[in-house]
Amino acid sequence: MAELCCLFSVGSAIRTYYNNPEGHSNNLRILITGGAGFIGSHVTDRFIRDGHEVVVLDNLVTGDKRNLNPRARFVNLDIRDRKGVEQLLAEGRFDVIDHHAAQMDVRKSTEDPLYDAEVNILGSINLIAAAVRHGVGKFIYVSTGGAVHGEPKRLPVEEGDPVNPECQYGISKHTVEHYLYLYRLLYKLNYVVLRYPNVFGPRQNPHGEAGVIAIFTGKIMDGETPTIFGDGEQLRDYVFVEDVAEANALALKRGDGEIVNVGSGKGTSVNELFGHLKKHLRFGGEAKHAPLRPGEIQRIYLSGRKARQVLGWEPRVGVEEGLRRTVEWVEQSRCSGQWR
Ligand code: NAD
Repeated sequence: MAELCCLFSVGSAIRTYYNNPEGHSNNLRILITGGAGFIGSHVTDRFIRDGHEVVVLDNLVTGDKRNLNPRARFVNLDIRDRKGVEQLLAEGRFDVIDHHAAQMDVRKSTEDPLYDAEVNILGSINLIAAAVRHGVGKFIYVSTGGAVHGEPKRLPVEEGDPVNPECQYGISKHTVEHYLYLYRLLYKLNYVVLRYPNVFGPRQNPHGEAGVIAIFTGKIMDGETPTIFGDGEQLRDYVFVEDVAEANALALKRGDGEIVNVGSGKGTSVNELFGHLKKHLRFGGEAKHAPLRPGEIQRIYLSGRKARQVLGWEPRVGVEEGLRRTVEWVEQSRCSGQWR
């Protein structure tokens, strides 16, 4: 709470801060939850570059202060903290909440489903209800396309395809979509749901949905042999984090009341991914194989058709180029002792 108190003790400074230093018109006051995390920090950087005024809310449970943009105000707060969230929204008068904070580790959701539901469902309801009370203009909710459908019947997966999550994380992330629908109906809360695929890029950590890239890269650099589960032909939709930030920038003005896949429409196998990494890391070895993990989805990638129509979005950075940039970042952060 200390940093929050500090924020409120300088209430007028917040307003001053909101005077956009770059003098852009159309600048918005945006609260980003999870802005110290992998994806939220890139979205923060993008919003600041576009001239918006950003406050980051994060409790740093998996986030890292080193990801924080120095031009964003940081509030160390838990999204489940009723009083804290109420106070922040009352003071902040935000135009937009962009909600990235989450328990995002699938395995942890299975080990501790109560914690997963507390953060992902109750924490989100806390924010949504406060957004209604304080007249927030738009709520951008980050959901997952990879974990809500289970094993899809057809590919690429469209937004209206059956929802049959096969993990607690998929259930908790999807549940919030229903609350948003209801709060729009009851209280006219404007929202957009962005369903992410496997997001990858600089600052990613090994626990997320595209964690395999960080894990393989770390292992190869440490001279260890990476493990591929199953035959490596599992397909996933890998989208570079800067493209995901672009989708958030577009969602500020578009996509009202919609659920949109931030998908590339293409599947990449673990074997292909490993092949690209071998090339970028100049690694001549092979991976070892282990039995497929129970409950792992075999093939999933998301249609980007609606994102093109509704947001005017499509990915610009391909998997190979994105991997090259990610490896470059890992190399740099290892040299500077920042690799975690
Ligand atoms: P991340 O762990 O790097 O970011 C999550 C952030 O939320 C962290 O900074 C963490 O400290 C913060 N946080 C967690 N619990 C909190 C709480 N109770 N109160 C305040 N802050 C809290 O993960 P990420 O990969 O950047 O994921 C960001 C969002 O994107 C999540 O909502 C996740 O479900 C979603 N998503 C991610 C992927 C992916 O491939 N990484 C795919 C689909 C959806």
